[in-house]
Amino acid sequence: MSLLDIHVLGDPILRETTTPVAAVTDELRRLIDDMFETMYAAKGIGLAAPQVGRRERIAVIDVDDVPLVVVNPDIRLSEGKVKGEEGCLSIPEIYGDVERAGRVVVSALDRDGNPIEVEGTELLARCLQHEIDHLHGRLFLDYLSVLKRRSAMSKWEKERAKYPALRRTIDPRDLAEQHNEEAL
Ligand code: ZN
Repeated sequence: MSLLDIHVLGDPILRETTTPVAAVTDELRRLIDDMFETMYAAKGIGLAAPQVGRRERIAVIDVDDVPLVVVNPDIRLSEGKVKGEEGCLSIPEIYGDVERAGRVVVSALDRDGNPIEVEGTELLARCLQHEIDHLHGRLFLDYLSVLKRRSAMSKWEKERAKYPALRRTIDPRDLAEQHNEEAL
């Protein structure tokens, strides 16, 4: 397995939509393993393929120590509204409150290509919605009010200077002092 570079805000791939996966091949299973390794090293709880420069419709999640892969995920049901703080591994150090459905039911394929249905509430529901947004070129910033987005972007302009190539190379030793909020 290997750590992948995370593409940060400003890289156009984060705004593209992904392509549904026709078959979960061994190559894609290796990608999934690398995405998990990268997500854990970055202390995130979710990571979507465009964040590592890929266009397949795949995301990995780990909320409460339950690793979950969703291939071609589709939200079948969503209900309730809950506001909560979000961050993103592609927009380090930027956080904002986002209103999301409190419960979702998602259909997808697992790493073997078998159909699964996942029900999520609370943080898992939030994480599923955040990652599925990534697969359609949407970011949590899109949900902020104009004023809050402007303030987040001006903070990001300073952070972005740390990533001249718009790539974030994860070194687990650097993350000890990181913000405690979970990033997705
Ligand atoms: Zn994210």
